[in-house]
Amino acid sequence: MKELRALPAPGPLPDEQGRLFLCVRRGVPLAAAALAFLAAALHDVGRGWWILAGVGALAAAWPSFLRGESFQRNRTRVMRQDSLWANALRPLARWLNQEDAWILSFCRHNNSRVREAFGGRRAKRALILLPHCIQMARCKAGILDDLQACYDCGLCPVGDYMNAVLLNHWEGRITNRSHKAYREAREYRPDLIVAVSCTDRLLKGLTKLPEIPSYVIPLSLPHGMCVDTDFSIPLLLSAMEALVEPKRPSGDIQPLRREGIA
Ligand code: SF4
Repeated sequence: MKELRALPAPGPLPDEQGRLFLCVRRGVPLAAAALAFLAAALHDVGRGWWILAGVGALAAAWPSFLRGESFQRNRTRVMRQDSLWANALRPLARWLNQEDAWILSFCRHNNSRVREAFGGRRAKRALILLPHCIQMARCKAGILDDLQACYDCGLCPVGDYMNAVLLNHWEGRITNRSHKAYREAREYRPDLIVAVSCTDRLLKGLTKLPEIPSYVIPLSLPHGMCVDTDFSIPLLLSAMEALVEPKRPSGDIQPLRREGIA
């Protein structure tokens, strides 16, 4: 068993809103409903159809108001609809050069609802999913088979992640393919996923696993896609602290370990 080092205590989980996504997701159907009811008021011909269209538009807007427990009860259906909006408007966002902003806004909106849902009742069976590209490309440590193969050299985020996972008794997977991550998640049956990935894979993950609440953290890509990527370890720690029941017994912290070779 490795000697573990405690990481600095995490700060509070940042407040995320996702206003861009929410404005579109809620605003478009509400505007359509208002126009339909206005048309019904102004035109005698086809009034029934206009009213029907207005009610349909209100029904489309309704899931965007669900929060907390009511969101949890309806989450699969709500997430399917939200993902539909996010994916349908993605080409327009790309055309406007706002693709990442659009997806990140969807992710933030999702995170705010997950945070509210787990505010009073923390998850008991959480699973962390990370992409393999966080490992430094030239590192030969076989972390896919055994996380403890990491030398904790400090050159990539894997060392900090390994210490946090082992110290806190968290369940986590590092995978090199999205479909493996989805399979791991379905097999483990978590009540919460905390996932780190690029914006494209975060959107795909939220779309593919609408039934599992997922708090998502975007990767930063200082060297481009899939090479030596990075993410905020403090944000991961904050998310686990705020959303997941602690498993680590008290007094389990061991001295700082400063050796390690890449
Ligand atoms: S040994 Fe260093 S470079 Fe390799 S995975 Fe661990 S922390 Fe990253």
